[in-house]
Amino acid sequence: MSNREVELLAVGAGPANLALAVALEELAPTDLAENSLVIERARSVEWQPGLLMPWAKSQVSFLKDLVTLRDPRSRFSFLNYLHTVGRLDSFINMGSFLPYRIEISDYLAWVADSLARVRIQLGCGCTAVEPRRDGRGRLTGWLARLADGSTVTSRYLVLGTGRDPYLPGAFADVPGSRVIHSTQYRARVAQLSRELPYRVAVVGGAQSAAEMFRALREDLPNCDLTLIMRSIGLRADELTKFTNELYYPSFVDEFFTAQPEGRVQILAEMERTNYRSTAPDMLESLYADLYLDRLTGQHRRRIVTLTDVSAAREVSDELVLELTDRKTGAVSTLRRDLVFLGTGFVREMPALMRRLAADLGLDQITVDRRYRLVTGDLSEPACYLQGVNEETHGISDSLLSVAAHRAADITGDILAHRLGAADGHRGGRAAEPVGEPR
Ligand SMILES: Cc1cc2nc3c(=O)[nH]c(=O)nc-3n(C[C@H](O)[C@H](O)[C@H](O)COP(=O)(O)OP(=O)(O)OC[C@H]3O[C@@H](n4cnc5c(N)ncnc54)[C@H](O)[C@@H]3O)c2cc1C
Repeated sequence: MSNREVELLAVGAGPANLALAVALEELAPTDLAENSLVIERARSVEWQPGLLMPWAKSQVSFLKDLVTLRDPRSRFSFLNYLHTVGRLDSFINMGSFLPYRIEISDYLAWVADSLARVRIQLGCGCTAVEPRRDGRGRLTGWLARLADGSTVTSRYLVLGTGRDPYLPGAFADVPGSRVIHSTQYRARVAQLSRELPYRVAVVGGAQSAAEMFRALREDLPNCDLTLIMRSIGLRADELTKFTNELYYPSFVDEFFTAQPEGRVQILAEMERTNYRSTAPDMLESLYADLYLDRLTGQHRRRIVTLTDVSAAREVSDELVLELTDRKTGAVSTLRRDLVFLGTGFVREMPALMRRLAADLGLDQITVDRRYRLVTGDLSEPACYLQGVNEETHGISDSLLSVAAHRAADITGDILAHRLGAADGHRGGRAAEPVGEPR
């Protein structure tokens, strides 16, 4: 099978690596930009396609796009996208800072199409990334194995694959045909028979479970629907204008240099500004739905709180869920045809990164301030991790809020690293920031 060699390989064409592609186009010399490749396993560029419902809205300002916070004059801004596709007037007239998710998704696809130098290859899944070594065992670069059996070798590697979906242990032995994680929602629900009266459970107590609960009303209108959660009920996110300041790109430095106890406190207090919570407008709409369901005597939708799904098994032609009431300890069963999991993502590093770290002999995966994987020797070909560094870079790390600046940080580090290598420096120079000052 064939091998291609590039200078920089970025795995995943989500917002993180698209922002990097933009930064490479705008800040890197032509030889680096033109020798950079972004690969994406999906056949199109879409933002969180599993839950790309037409009514779903972004939860951050449209100004936190792939570039504006770094350079508001960039041609890759969301505003330029609106202008180009002829929707600037109507967007302004909507008077909202929060665009629909489908228009952010379309913006990302537009950015991918508008790149002049960085290449993007779609339908190109990466199955493994491995270190390459010379005869003396020194790291010389990276090798990415692709699903079609070919390989790509590179000097720089940037992993921006998002996190792995979390499947609770109770569902480990349930056939995949009956369990649908939120990341697969739209694709899988489209394969079901819309009119059938499925018995459905949605598991989870936050935004993605709430969104599926709402979407199923339209997608499977005759289904009998139970939302099951451990918590006391759906709760609004706790974001205020004060705490939102901790999502500023400039806060990354403060967080990175904070002492360990400070980081722990900040992450704990910020938890409900982003996780285990639901957007307030979604709560209103769901509550009105349930109210109407009861008012019209349909009783086809219900929410069960303070309950664990403690076991699940397929029996004959149905799924039997064992529910444990967290108040009383009482155990009951619920018979369903399908379960939708709004259970979020695995907190630990994605499997792709963990396997790479194991190959490198690292017992922990950590990055420096500029997102470079710490391997112990700065002269080694560099690998960067995007979107998985909350513990060191703060709660904004998985969000759009810092994508533009992070991309510039990584680009700046690569440029410094290249310069150091060209000068024959071991380890390259300390990275200089590129782009606009913060
Ligand atoms: C439903 C939902 C709504 C959200 N809403 C918001 C919001 O409103 N605002 C916000 O700031 N954040 C939001 N987020 C957080 C979200 O993580 C970020 O917005 C953003 O998508 C992170 O970008 P990313 O590029 O790091 O990861 P992702 O967006 O997850 O992109 C990763 C990409 O890598 C690809 N990929 C994965 N593995 C491979 C592989 N092995 N080979 C090739 N390609 C691969 C995937 O197909 C995907 O396209 C939301 C998340 C979810 C799940």
